[in-house]
Amino acid sequence: MTLYELMAAPGRASEAVLNDTTPPEEQSALLTTMRGRLGEMRSAVRRGLESDAPSRTGMVGWNAKTLWERPDPLGAPLLKRVQAYAMAVNEENARMGRIVAAPTAGSAGTLPGALIGVGDELGFTDDALVMPLVLAAGIGDIISQTMFIAGASGGCGAEIGPSAAMAAAAVCELLGGSARQAVHAAAMALMNTIGLVCDPVGGFVEVPCVSRNAFYSVHAVAAAQLALAGLESFIPPDEVVSAMASVGRLLPPELRETGEGGLADTPTGRRIALQMAK
Ligand code: SF4
Repeated sequence: MTLYELMAAPGRASEAVLNDTTPPEEQSALLTTMRGRLGEMRSAVRRGLESDAPSRTGMVGWNAKTLWERPDPLGAPLLKRVQAYAMAVNEENARMGRIVAAPTAGSAGTLPGALIGVGDELGFTDDALVMPLVLAAGIGDIISQTMFIAGASGGCGAEIGPSAAMAAAAVCELLGGSARQAVHAAAMALMNTIGLVCDPVGGFVEVPCVSRNAFYSVHAVAAAQLALAGLESFIPPDEVVSAMASVGRLLPPELRETGEGGLADTPTGRRIALQMAK
Protein backbone atom coordinates (compact mmCIF):
# COMPACT_ATOMS: atom_id res chain seq x y z
CA MET A 1 0.00 0.00 0.00
CA THR A 2 1.18 3.54 -0.74
CA LEU A 3 0.37 6.67 1.21
CA TYR A 4 -1.71 7.75 -1.76
CA GLU A 5 -3.83 4.60 -1.47
CA LEU A 6 -4.09 4.92 2.31
CA MET A 7 -5.20 8.53 1.96
CA ALA A 8 -8.12 7.41 -0.23
CA ALA A 9 -9.43 4.87 2.32
CA PRO A 10 -13.15 5.42 2.94
CA GLY A 11 -13.09 4.88 6.72
CA ARG A 12 -10.41 5.35 9.31
CA ALA A 13 -6.86 4.98 8.07
CA SER A 14 -6.09 2.48 10.84
CA GLU A 15 -8.85 0.17 9.62
CA ALA A 16 -7.41 0.30 6.10
CA VAL A 17 -3.96 -0.60 7.49
CA LEU A 18 -5.40 -3.44 9.55
CA ASN A 19 -7.38 -4.90 6.65
CA ASP A 20 -4.46 -4.50 4.25
CA THR A 21 -1.90 -6.20 6.47
CA THR A 22 -3.78 -8.76 8.52
CA PRO A 23 -6.24 -11.54 7.57
CA PRO A 24 -9.59 -11.19 9.43
CA GLU A 25 -8.94 -14.28 11.58
CA GLU A 26 -5.64 -12.79 12.84
CA GLN A 27 -6.83 -9.26 13.54
CA SER A 28 -7.91 -9.89 17.09
CA ALA A 29 -4.47 -11.36 17.95
CA LEU A 30 -2.76 -8.39 16.34
CA LEU A 31 -4.84 -5.94 18.38
CA THR A 32 -3.91 -7.86 21.53
CA THR A 33 -0.25 -7.51 20.56
CA MET A 34 -0.68 -3.79 19.98
CA ARG A 35 -2.33 -3.43 23.39
CA GLY A 36 0.75 -5.11 24.82
CA ARG A 37 3.06 -2.70 22.97
CA LEU A 38 1.04 0.22 24.29
CA GLY A 39 1.40 -1.18 27.81
CA GLU A 40 5.18 -1.44 27.35
CA MET A 41 5.32 2.15 26.11
CA ARG A 42 3.32 3.34 29.10
CA SER A 43 5.53 1.39 31.47
CA ALA A 44 8.65 3.03 29.97
CA VAL A 45 7.02 6.45 30.37
CA ARG A 46 6.21 5.75 34.03
CA ARG A 47 9.71 4.45 34.87
CA GLY A 48 11.31 7.35 33.04
CA LEU A 49 9.27 9.95 34.90
CA GLU A 50 10.15 8.39 38.25
CA SER A 51 13.90 7.98 37.74
CA ASP A 52 16.70 10.48 37.81
CA ALA A 53 19.47 7.86 37.60
CA PRO A 54 22.09 8.97 35.11
CA SER A 55 22.94 6.93 32.05
CA ARG A 56 26.34 5.20 31.89
CA THR A 57 27.91 8.25 30.27
CA GLY A 58 26.31 10.64 32.75
CA MET A 59 25.02 12.88 29.97
CA VAL A 60 21.28 12.23 30.51
CA GLY A 61 18.89 10.51 32.91
CA TRP A 62 17.16 13.23 34.92
CA ASN A 63 15.64 15.44 32.23
CA ALA A 64 12.17 13.86 32.08
CA LYS A 65 11.71 13.77 35.85
CA THR A 66 12.96 17.33 36.22
CA LEU A 67 10.60 18.68 33.57
CA TRP A 68 7.69 16.66 34.93
CA GLU A 69 8.12 17.83 38.52
CA ARG A 70 8.92 21.49 37.93
CA PRO A 71 6.17 24.13 37.69
CA ASP A 72 5.03 24.93 34.17
CA PRO A 73 5.79 28.60 33.48
CA LEU A 74 4.08 28.47 30.08
CA GLY A 75 0.72 27.27 31.34
CA ALA A 76 0.81 24.66 28.60
CA PRO A 77 0.22 21.30 30.31
CA LEU A 78 -0.14 19.37 27.05
CA LEU A 79 3.23 20.61 25.83
CA LYS A 80 4.91 19.69 29.10
CA ARG A 81 3.31 16.26 29.25
CA VAL A 82 4.19 15.34 25.66
CA GLN A 83 7.82 16.42 26.09
CA ALA A 84 8.23 14.73 29.48
CA TYR A 85 6.74 11.45 28.26
CA ALA A 86 8.99 11.44 25.18
CA MET A 87 12.17 12.08 27.19
CA ALA A 88 11.12 9.54 29.82
CA VAL A 89 11.18 6.80 27.18
CA ASN A 90 14.51 7.87 25.69
CA GLU A 91 16.15 8.20 29.09
CA GLU A 92 14.98 4.68 29.87
CA ASN A 93 16.61 3.66 26.60
CA ALA A 94 19.82 5.43 27.63
CA ARG A 95 19.75 3.50 30.93
CA MET A 96 19.32 0.28 28.94
CA GLY A 97 15.74 -0.06 30.20
CA ARG A 98 12.98 -1.79 28.24
CA ILE A 99 11.37 0.32 25.53
CA VAL A 100 9.46 -0.23 22.29
CA ALA A 101 11.43 0.81 19.19
CA ALA A 102 9.10 3.13 17.29
CA PRO A 103 10.55 2.77 14.74
CA THR A 104 14.07 2.75 16.30
CA ALA A 105 15.37 2.90 19.86
CA GLY A 106 16.82 6.37 19.31
CA SER A 107 13.44 7.70 18.20
CA ALA A 108 11.39 5.57 20.61
CA GLY A 109 10.02 8.48 22.64
CA THR A 110 8.34 10.52 19.94
CA LEU A 111 5.33 8.27 19.34
CA PRO A 112 4.46 7.49 22.98
CA GLY A 113 5.21 11.09 23.92
CA ALA A 114 2.73 12.41 21.40
CA LEU A 115 0.08 9.68 21.41
CA ILE A 116 -0.02 8.72 25.09
CA GLY A 117 0.67 12.30 26.09
CA VAL A 118 -2.26 13.68 24.11
CA GLY A 119 -4.42 10.71 25.16
CA ASP A 120 -3.75 11.27 28.87
CA GLU A 121 -4.09 15.02 28.72
CA LEU A 122 -7.44 14.83 26.92
CA GLY A 123 -8.79 11.89 28.91
CA PHE A 124 -8.77 9.09 26.31
CA THR A 125 -8.66 5.49 27.51
CA ASP A 126 -5.84 3.20 26.42
CA ASP A 127 -8.37 1.26 24.31
CA ALA A 128 -8.88 4.40 22.22
CA LEU A 129 -5.15 4.53 21.49
CA VAL A 130 -4.86 1.03 20.05
CA MET A 131 -6.15 1.69 16.53
CA PRO A 132 -4.09 4.91 16.18
CA LEU A 133 -1.10 2.78 17.17
CA VAL A 134 -1.98 0.36 14.36
CA LEU A 135 -2.01 3.33 11.99
CA ALA A 136 1.37 4.49 13.28
CA ALA A 137 2.81 1.04 12.55
CA GLY A 138 1.28 1.10 9.09
CA ILE A 139 2.75 4.51 8.30
CA GLY A 140 6.18 3.34 9.47
CA ASP A 141 5.86 0.21 7.34
CA ILE A 142 4.98 2.20 4.22
CA ILE A 143 7.86 4.63 4.75
CA SER A 144 10.29 1.75 5.29
CA GLN A 145 9.51 0.43 1.82
CA THR A 146 11.16 3.53 0.32
CA MET A 147 13.93 4.37 2.77
CA PHE A 148 16.11 2.57 5.28
CA ILE A 149 14.99 3.54 8.74
CA ALA A 150 18.33 4.15 10.43
CA GLY A 151 20.46 7.17 11.26
CA ALA A 152 23.39 5.32 9.71
CA SER A 153 21.69 5.25 6.34
CA GLY A 154 19.88 8.59 6.17
CA GLY A 155 20.75 10.73 9.18
CA CYS A 156 18.30 11.53 11.95
CA GLY A 157 15.67 12.34 9.34
CA ALA A 158 15.53 8.58 8.75
CA GLU A 159 14.76 7.92 12.42
CA ILE A 160 13.05 10.93 13.93
CA GLY A 161 11.36 11.67 10.58
CA PRO A 162 9.39 8.40 10.44
CA SER A 163 8.72 8.49 14.18
CA ALA A 164 7.25 12.00 13.91
CA ALA A 165 5.21 10.95 10.86
CA MET A 166 3.87 7.90 12.68
CA ALA A 167 3.01 9.99 15.74
CA ALA A 168 1.38 12.77 13.71
CA ALA A 169 -0.91 10.33 11.90
CA ALA A 170 -1.81 8.55 15.13
CA VAL A 171 -2.66 11.76 17.00
CA CYS A 172 -4.63 13.04 14.02
CA GLU A 173 -6.75 9.90 13.93
CA LEU A 174 -7.18 9.87 17.70
CA LEU A 175 -8.65 13.36 17.45
CA GLY A 176 -11.12 12.34 14.74
CA GLY A 177 -9.08 12.98 11.62
CA SER A 178 -9.97 11.27 8.34
CA ALA A 179 -7.58 8.99 6.49
CA ARG A 180 -6.64 11.88 4.21
CA GLN A 181 -5.95 14.17 7.15
CA ALA A 182 -3.90 11.53 8.97
CA VAL A 183 -1.69 10.88 5.94
CA HIS A 184 -1.19 14.60 5.36
CA ALA A 185 -0.28 15.02 9.03
CA ALA A 186 2.37 12.34 8.54
CA ALA A 187 3.67 14.00 5.36
CA MET A 188 3.89 17.44 6.97
CA ALA A 189 5.73 16.01 9.96
CA LEU A 190 8.12 14.12 7.70
CA MET A 191 8.87 16.97 5.30
CA ASN A 192 9.94 19.17 8.16
CA THR A 193 12.59 16.74 9.33
CA ILE A 194 14.35 16.39 5.97
CA GLY A 195 18.10 16.93 6.27
CA LEU A 196 18.29 16.39 10.01
CA VAL A 197 21.74 14.98 10.74
CA CYS A 198 22.67 12.11 13.04
CA ASP A 199 25.53 13.25 15.28
CA PRO A 200 25.27 11.45 18.63
CA VAL A 201 27.91 12.61 21.08
CA GLY A 202 30.45 9.87 21.74
CA GLY A 203 28.36 7.56 19.58
CA PHE A 204 25.82 7.16 22.41
CA VAL A 205 22.10 7.54 21.74
CA GLU A 206 21.73 10.27 24.34
CA VAL A 207 22.76 13.74 23.11
CA PRO A 208 20.99 15.13 21.13
CA CYS A 209 18.63 12.15 20.96
CA VAL A 210 16.78 12.54 24.27
CA SER A 211 15.84 16.19 23.79
CA ARG A 212 15.28 15.60 20.08
CA ASN A 213 12.45 13.21 20.90
CA ALA A 214 10.90 15.85 23.13
CA PHE A 215 11.03 18.41 20.33
CA TYR A 216 9.71 16.08 17.64
CA SER A 217 6.85 14.74 19.75
CA VAL A 218 5.61 18.33 19.88
CA HIS A 219 6.32 18.65 16.17
CA ALA A 220 4.08 15.61 15.55
CA VAL A 221 1.24 17.11 17.58
CA ALA A 222 1.62 20.36 15.62
CA ALA A 223 1.42 18.47 12.33
CA ALA A 224 -1.78 16.74 13.50
CA GLN A 225 -3.24 20.09 14.48
CA LEU A 226 -2.50 21.57 11.05
CA ALA A 227 -3.99 18.58 9.27
CA LEU A 228 -7.13 18.65 11.42
CA ALA A 229 -7.56 22.30 10.43
CA GLY A 230 -7.53 21.19 6.78
CA LEU A 231 -3.95 22.06 5.87
CA GLU A 232 -2.23 19.63 3.53
CA SER A 233 1.26 18.85 2.31
CA PHE A 234 1.71 20.62 -1.04
CA ILE A 235 4.08 17.86 -2.13
CA PRO A 236 2.18 14.53 -2.36
CA PRO A 237 2.99 12.36 0.68
CA ASP A 238 4.71 9.54 -1.25
CA GLU A 239 6.95 12.13 -2.95
CA VAL A 240 7.87 13.53 0.45
CA VAL A 241 9.09 10.08 1.49
CA SER A 242 11.17 9.81 -1.69
CA ALA A 243 12.66 13.27 -1.07
CA MET A 244 13.53 12.28 2.48
CA ALA A 245 15.27 9.15 1.24
CA SER A 246 17.27 10.99 -1.43
CA VAL A 247 18.42 13.73 0.97
CA GLY A 248 19.44 11.05 3.48
CA ARG A 249 21.60 9.36 0.86
CA LEU A 250 23.27 12.70 0.07
CA LEU A 251 24.39 13.27 3.65
CA PRO A 252 28.12 12.72 4.16
CA PRO A 253 29.13 9.72 6.29
CA GLU A 254 30.24 12.06 9.12
CA LEU A 255 26.59 13.00 9.64
CA ARG A 256 25.19 9.49 9.56
CA GLU A 257 25.63 8.02 13.04
CA THR A 258 29.40 7.73 12.89
CA GLY A 259 29.89 10.19 15.76
CA GLU A 260 32.41 12.10 13.63
CA GLY A 261 30.48 15.23 12.69
CA GLY A 262 28.11 17.86 14.03
CA LEU A 263 27.67 17.89 17.82
CA ALA A 264 29.88 14.82 18.14
CA ASP A 265 32.76 16.76 16.57
CA THR A 266 32.64 19.69 19.00
CA PRO A 267 35.38 20.02 21.66
CA THR A 268 32.93 18.77 24.29
CA GLY A 269 31.75 15.96 22.06
CA ARG A 270 35.31 14.81 21.42
CA ARG A 271 36.16 15.03 25.13
CA ILE A 272 33.21 12.80 26.04
CA ALA A 273 34.19 10.31 23.35
CA LEU A 274 37.72 10.19 24.71
CA GLN A 275 36.52 9.77 28.31
CA MET A 276 34.23 6.92 27.39
CA ALA A 277 36.92 5.21 25.34
CA LYS A 278 39.12 5.17 28.44
S1 SF4 B 1 20.75 11.69 16.36
FE1 SF4 B 1 21.13 9.67 15.42
S2 SF4 B 1 21.17 8.21 17.12
FE2 SF4 B 1 20.16 10.10 17.85
S3 SF4 B 1 17.94 9.80 17.50
FE3 SF4 B 1 18.77 10.84 15.69
S4 SF4 B 1 19.27 9.15 14.29
FE4 SF4 B 1 19.05 8.23 16.31
